[in-house]
Amino acid sequence: MATLTGKTAVVTGSTSGIGLAYARALAGAGANLVINGMGDPDDIERERAGLERDFGVTVVYSPADMLKAAEIAEMVALGERTFGAVDILINNAGIQFVSPVEDFPIEKWDAIIAINLSSAFHGIRAVVPGMKKRGWGRIINTASAHSLVASPFKSAYVAAKHGIAGLTKSVALELATFGVTCNCISPGYVWTPLVERQIPDTMKARNLSKEQVINDVLLHAQPTKQFVTVDQVASLALFLCSDAASQITGANLSMDGGWTAA
Ligand code: NAD
Repeated sequence: MATLTGKTAVVTGSTSGIGLAYARALAGAGANLVINGMGDPDDIERERAGLERDFGVTVVYSPADMLKAAEIAEMVALGERTFGAVDILINNAGIQFVSPVEDFPIEKWDAIIAINLSSAFHGIRAVVPGMKKRGWGRIINTASAHSLVASPFKSAYVAAKHGIAGLTKSVALELATFGVTCNCISPGYVWTPLVERQIPDTMKARNLSKEQVINDVLLHAQPTKQFVTVDQVASLALFLCSDAASQITGANLSMDGGWTAA
């Protein structure tokens, strides 16, 4: 697996769920980190200090709001100022909203496109000059099975995730001769706060009980009938950071229990 000692990674949305697992996996491999995301300041400081204590790396926190291009550029600049370079960028922050398209609140559409798609563009735009100059880089975008297939009532999320798959391919082609890879990981359902939070809305939109949403909607899509774990997703990201993965670029890597094979 990858040894990342001396490398720096920026992981957006790393105060929870999959992003937190990415942060722990990269720190475990020796990378210094810029963590980012929303949450209670005391909890975030506990996470930051815990990563330093558990893995002996240096970790700084950027409060950048993924809705704001200038703050995203500043998050990357913080990494470059603190550590001299940003070698790995994981675009992971994301939100979800479930509603019939005709009732979909316009501000929710705008926020999902901004946080789940445009923020990755802003981050990539900021890290690429340094990565090109140094001739090494890894850009990993958390997409979703919804980058390949759709579900009803998730129009903004599906549009953003299809968009991120396209952005991944385009950036990969631009950077192919610079030692920089760009890939996306497409998990199926991973048990995180994001999934837990959408259960009440799905219950309402489809008129189902909580158990029916879990078994008939969420795990219905996944032939293995099991949730993906955050650590499994993080392990794939770690592999993509290794030299063994240097010829994987522009790929959309599914980890969805067979969902998109159907
Ligand atoms: P989560 O809700 O546990 O974590 C989301 C993270 O994004 C949090 O750290 C949150 O603070 C951060 N975030 C949200 N809005 C932000 C903003 N404006 N600025 C900065 N940070 C912000 O969710 P998760 O399930 O870990 O999701 C992480 C990524 O994985 C998302 O892109 C999501 O679409 C994707 N994904 C999740 C699943 C799943 O089943 N959980 C499946 C496929 C893809």
